[in-house]
Amino acid sequence: MTDIVVLGSTNMDLVTYVEKAPQRGETVTGREFRTIPGGKGANQAIAAARAGGDVLMIGAVGNDAFGIHLRSTLEHSGVDTDDLRTVEGPSGTAHIVVDDEGGNAIVVIPGANGTVDHLSPGDEGVIASAGTLLLQLEIPLAAVLAGAQAAHRHGVRTILTPSPAQPLPDELLATIDLLVPNEHEATTLTGRTDPREAATALLDRVPEVVVTLGAAGCLYATRGADPLTVPAPKVTAVDSTGAGDTFVGALAVALGEGRPMPDALAWASAAAALSVQREGATAAMPYRPEIDERHAS
Ligand code: AMP
Repeated sequence: MTDIVVLGSTNMDLVTYVEKAPQRGETVTGREFRTIPGGKGANQAIAAARAGGDVLMIGAVGNDAFGIHLRSTLEHSGVDTDDLRTVEGPSGTAHIVVDDEGGNAIVVIPGANGTVDHLSPGDEGVIASAGTLLLQLEIPLAAVLAGAQAAHRHGVRTILTPSPAQPLPDELLATIDLLVPNEHEATTLTGRTDPREAATALLDRVPEVVVTLGAAGCLYATRGADPLTVPAPKVTAVDSTGAGDTFVGALAVALGEGRPMPDALAWASAAAALSVQREGATAAMPYRPEIDERHAS
C-alpha cells in the first residue's frame, strides 16, 4: 500500500540568485543561475519520501530534457513515478529570483502540468489505496477537484496547499480534511490579514487548518478548540523556496504514522527549518534522520 499519493505539478525551477531583485524596468547583474527540479507537487512528493513516506506521484512531464531530469529526480528520492505521464510538449518551468535575504519571486509556466485536467483510468484506484492525498493548485482545478472527490469517496485523508493563491469553490473545500495555506493564501481565501482570524474563518469551510507563518512557525486551528501556535526553530534562512512544501510533505508522513497533531507540526517545522538553511527547493529537503535529530534538539 502507498502511504501518500501526490496529485500535482512537476516543474524545472530556473533559479537566479541576486543581491536584490530588479524592479520593473530595471536591469541588475545576478550572481548565479541554477536549474533545480521543483513544482509544488514534486516538491511535496520528494519531501514526503525523504521524510520516510511511501510516496507515489500522479502528474505529467513534457517529452523534453527537463522531463527526463524531473522523472529521474523523483525516482532518486524514492518516489514511484509509474503514474507520472510523459506528454508531447515542454515540461512545466518556474522562473525564480532569490535575493540575499532569502526572499523569492516566482513566475510559473505550466507546460505539461496543464494537460493534467482529469483523472486517468486507474488513478482513482491508486488514490483509494493510499492513506493520504496531497494536493496543490499548479494543475487545472478540474483534476484537483476530481482527485479530492475520489479520495473523499474512499475515506482517504486530503491535504490541500492552496497555492498559487486563489479563491476556491465550496465544492472543492467540502472534500478537504486539512487546508495548509501560508499567510498570503489565507488572506486571499478569507479577506482577513490576521492569521488567527483567517484560520477561524476557514473553519467554516474545512475541519482543520494550518496557516504557515514563515520564521514565526505555524498556527493550527480545528473546530471546537482554541488555535495552537507552534513556533519554528530559530535558524539562519538562506532560501525559503520549498519550505512550505517540505513542511506539508513531512506533516503528511507524521500524520500518516498516527502522531498527534502538535507533535506532527513540531516535526514538520523541524523539517522546514532545515530546508531554509540550504539553497534550492528539492535540493534543500532533509532526510528523516536529520529531521529526527533537529526535532530532538
Ligand atoms: P512559509 O511558507 O514561509 O510560511 O514557510 C513554511 C514553513 O517553513 C513555516 O511554517 C516554518 O515551519 C518554515 N520556515 C519558513 N521560514 C523559516 C525560517 N526563516 N526559519 C525557520 N523556519 C522557517
